[in-house]
Amino acid sequence: MITNIDLNNNYFLKVVNNSNELSKNLIDIEHLNIIDILKKRTFLLKIDFKILNKKHYKRILRKLLNIKWIISHSKIKIGVSENLKILLGYIINYDEENKQQNDFILGINAIFYNTKNERYNYIYDTVCDYLDSCFYGKNLCDFQNNKCGEKRNTSSLIGCCHHFKIKCLGPLTKLVKCEYLKEDYTCSAKCIGCKLFTCDYLRKKGIKFRIKDILLLDSFFNPIQKYFIKYKVFTPKYKVIKLLLFWS
Ligand code: SF4
Ligand code: SF4
Repeated sequence: MITNIDLNNNYFLKVVNNSNELSKNLIDIEHLNIIDILKKRTFLLKIDFKILNKKHYKRILRKLLNIKWIISHSKIKIGVSENLKILLGYIINYDEENKQQNDFILGINAIFYNTKNERYNYIYDTVCDYLDSCFYGKNLCDFQNNKCGEKRNTSSLIGCCHHFKIKCLGPLTKLVKCEYLKEDYTCSAKCIGCKLFTCDYLRKKGIKFRIKDILLLDSFFNPIQKYFIKYKVFTPKYKVIKLLLFWS
């Protein structure tokens, strides 16, 4: 049985069960080698999840990104045209329930965007959707009547969506509601730093989101970019993306 996995930018991957039927001319993603690719003059991937070690996913994605950059500046065509789409390669031994394998495929999808800006937007939105599915989907913060677990015994109805503001008169600072919090208690900023934040209450529950555990963030950003992703809280998406592009 062959199924397809659609990627963005008109690319797709084919899932196959039997690797014996595949051409020997495929580029094994585990052993990417630019000289080999330039010699073969084709770029069609083979991704065998039985052979791939998940500890190497980050290294492979980074290498693939570099190789994609080189071949997109050469005469080698990426993939093979098929039914108005572009076949990028074959996947073998794929388990669609396996989150790590799916994260690796998201990483491949990110690589084949045409521009860094598009790639960063895709990564940003994909990670935000993932974090939202955890926080809202599973109600990690245990909200009940707009009171989260951490603020259960207080009058606060806005979780941790507040910050200190400098005052001219009286005490130097006061705690104010975040300007991006909407009337319906949703966030208008799509701030990834806020979404990654976990307070003491969540950490006691064993919940923590680290950049190094999120393959898309860990693979495609340098240490300065990761710093901004983590610490630029109360900041709308377009400003974070601008910073990421500046420090790329
Ligand atoms: S992260 Fe903590 S303080 Fe913020 S909303 Fe969740 S439980 Fe409340
Ligand atoms: S920017 Fe952060 S603090 Fe402000 S509303 Fe959004 S999630 Fe809350």
